[in-house]
Amino acid sequence: MTDPRRALPSVNALLELPELRQLLGSHPRDLVVNAVRSVLDDVRAGASAPASGDAAEWARRIAAAVALAERPSLRPVLNATGVVLHTNLGRAPLPEAALAAMRRAAEGYSNLEYDLGAGARGSRYMHCVGLLRELTGAEDAIVVNNGAAAVTLALNTLADGREAVLSRGELVEIGGSFRVPEIMAKSGARLVEVGTTNRTHPADYAGAITPRTGAIVKVHRSNFSIDGFVADVDVAELVKLAAPHGVPVLHDLGSGLMIPLDRIGLTGEPTVRDAVRAGATLVAMSGDKLLGGPQAGLLVGSAEAIAAVRQNPLTRAFRVDKLTLAALEATLAIYREPDRAFAEIPALRMLGASVESIAGRAEAIRAALPAHADARVVRTDATVGGGAFPLAKIPSAAVSLGGDVRAIDARLRAGDLPVVARIRDDRLLLDLRAVPERDDRALTDAITRALTA
Ligand SMILES: *Cc1c(COP(=O)(O)O)cnc(C)c1O
Repeated sequence: MTDPRRALPSVNALLELPELRQLLGSHPRDLVVNAVRSVLDDVRAGASAPASGDAAEWARRIAAAVALAERPSLRPVLNATGVVLHTNLGRAPLPEAALAAMRRAAEGYSNLEYDLGAGARGSRYMHCVGLLRELTGAEDAIVVNNGAAAVTLALNTLADGREAVLSRGELVEIGGSFRVPEIMAKSGARLVEVGTTNRTHPADYAGAITPRTGAIVKVHRSNFSIDGFVADVDVAELVKLAAPHGVPVLHDLGSGLMIPLDRIGLTGEPTVRDAVRAGATLVAMSGDKLLGGPQAGLLVGSAEAIAAVRQNPLTRAFRVDKLTLAALEATLAIYREPDRAFAEIPALRMLGASVESIAGRAEAIRAALPAHADARVVRTDATVGGGAFPLAKIPSAAVSLGGDVRAIDARLRAGDLPVVARIRDDRLLLDLRAVPERDDRALTDAITRALTA
């Protein structure tokens, strides 16, 4: 038997093909050479070899290898999972105003750390402070890189080398790499556990306060809920307990809800203003969860505690960048008018869309798919994600596909505009709640390609 791989053309022979002239004219030579090598490697590794005279097929494969090499690693995807704040998919899409602000900050210089009034060096930590005070009622605020950094910094500032008292019901893991006991250990605070998994009482905290106590810590149950024979102590009560001992209270709130969402049917989570009003010394939250802005960590609270955080050398290690500050400031400004927030902040707009409008879009997409497609529209439950309203089921609608759903799913993820969906009961569900309406056409095209490939 003859082995077709023995007759493989050389790299140089392929580069000489007239079919490659255009590719070589429009791309760096090294990129094309590497693509030729990778196509030959694939064939040596077992991929079928084009017939020896099939120059067009060699050129097609080499062009595909060039395209693959040029494809950015970080690419837009369509989120058809029904999870609006999906950490793996980048959490909150930004409002237009934030995009514009980032662009302005990025394309030139800014007063990032320059005091224009004084004509002297200023501080990046002054940006967003006024808005955060106005919107949350807190005395002062600081913005750092992300929520985990905010919590670490707060713990380190309040309780380095001292004890941090926490209920056993709040020793939680949030996402793969944020585990409260581990963050505490890294922050230098010694964890003192009180209460039990299901019940913790004021006396448990009171009994744990000693001269070594650095802080009492409350961690919001962002991604789970416990039910049944349960009891816990709210922040206002913790503050009452702690104040006579001069012990600060840190509240890790998680999601940064700026306004109540009752009007879109989401109730029961405290807003940042509620959390501040309860009296915690510091409240920590993320910028890219329900707040709907860029990745950032926000601390709001007493002037004294925030001043101490600003002095903490760790703050430099967690510092926020100018693009984030620009996007966050623009996002926060929208909250001055709650109606605008519901209309302009994509996370809130998507959470607030009516199920009828979503089902109507799903039906239009289904109707535009090839006639052979096994597609129907089904009602689903979308979720908020991003550490808030963990139990909320938001009525939604999806295009449900049958057939070889694993293969279709893989082709959707492999496309130029990848689509991330979920498989449920041997159907592939493409939930439209977290797909912006402007992408319906692109989604239809992507599904059509995945079905016909
Ligand atoms: C999400 C979350 C964090 C971590 O915030 P990141 O922005 O992901 O770093 C910390 N604590 C709570 C309660 C959270 O929900």
